[in-house]
Amino acid sequence: MYPLLLVRYGELSLKGRNRKTFEDLLLTNMRARLADLPHGRITKTFGRIYLETKDNWADLAERLQGVFGIVSVSPVLKRDLDLEDIQEGASLIIQDTPGKTFKVEARRPNKSFPLTSPEICRALGGHVLRNFPHLSVDVHQPDFVLNVEIRQEGAFLYSQVIPCLGGLPAGSSGKGLLLLSGGIDSPVAGFLSMKRGVSLEGLHFYSYPFTSERSKAKVVELASRLAPYNSRGTFKLWIAYFTEIQKALQLSSHQTLSITLMRRFMLRIATKLAEREKALALITGDSLGQVASQTMESIHVINAVTTTPVFRPLIGLDKQEIIDLSVKIGTYETSILPYEDCCTVFVPTNPATRPRLEKVLEAEAELDVDGLIEEALAKTELLEVKP
Ligand code: ATP
Ligand code: MG
Repeated sequence: MYPLLLVRYGELSLKGRNRKTFEDLLLTNMRARLADLPHGRITKTFGRIYLETKDNWADLAERLQGVFGIVSVSPVLKRDLDLEDIQEGASLIIQDTPGKTFKVEARRPNKSFPLTSPEICRALGGHVLRNFPHLSVDVHQPDFVLNVEIRQEGAFLYSQVIPCLGGLPAGSSGKGLLLLSGGIDSPVAGFLSMKRGVSLEGLHFYSYPFTSERSKAKVVELASRLAPYNSRGTFKLWIAYFTEIQKALQLSSHQTLSITLMRRFMLRIATKLAEREKALALITGDSLGQVASQTMESIHVINAVTTTPVFRPLIGLDKQEIIDLSVKIGTYETSILPYEDCCTVFVPTNPATRPRLEKVLEAEAELDVDGLIEEALAKTELLEVKP
């Protein structure tokens, strides 16, 4: 019944060229997200986007609920610039909208229409009250608002406002590299950074044969769940071979530091890859105090290997809040599948919660740090993951 979807986007503070970039990216990401669904033209007018539907507005709206930068969508009826026609459209909308109280809001950018906005409100309000005895007017807290917009091309009517994700279009902020494990946290960290406009690539450290093909397949699956939110709807996933580093760490005489050392290797490799890929930040799923490697002391010592900014979008979230988000974005079911991660395989019984930098440097002096990193980078492979 609704031939159009009205798409609202936010961040009104954006001006000039930024605004144009924002809008162009939003349109590109919308097109990518809707590619396999039938739809008509997408047009942009006065800070809004209109999408022509093909009798499938609900499917299209559901898809757009997963596109960052969109604040809300409304299914819209279009009528000729004729009061009777508009009233008939209003009746159709009312039949489709639950609620007992309503008000009418009218806007008239097209001043050639003979009625003023207050006159339109009165005419439509009267029409609704006459035809729908179960409804009454409440101008302060109505169950729904019947909106009418009188434009050059016709009258646009809607009542439903479907909230969407908000945020900034993925890609509008620049590129980031997500350290993606098979756990619950890192996919959520990726989601939250995409929400603020980061276009993501992923990096997974894989320790075959200590960890199985299955654990890699799981990470690919997680990447495919993130892909729809990403700019252009795809996800570049780098798989770095971590096996030699794990072996070297196993032989180290500083076992309580092995997790700290491992994390420093991860950040160093990620920093090099980010430079190569022109990514401006690294993103991890760290949450403060969650495990030994996520105390402030650990983060301090681990972070010391890089000058690239490290974003930790989950730093202030409790585990339950992270889980709730992962359920919402559809990664939870995959994340809880049993798997071995390179970290779980080698967790020492007594990991240091307050590693000291001098000790860490001593331990690293026994290792061929640069050689191990070069080797891992040389063996890194790229997977193009689609939704
Ligand atoms: P997650 O649930 O995301 O695995 P976690 O609570 O298990 O997180 P850790 O295992 O300590 O936490 O990992 C902290 C962060 O380090 C992860 O969120 C992720 O960003 C990164 N990380 C850990 N293991 C890997 C890996 N194998 N490959 C890439 N990044 C990793
Ligand atoms: Mg993990």
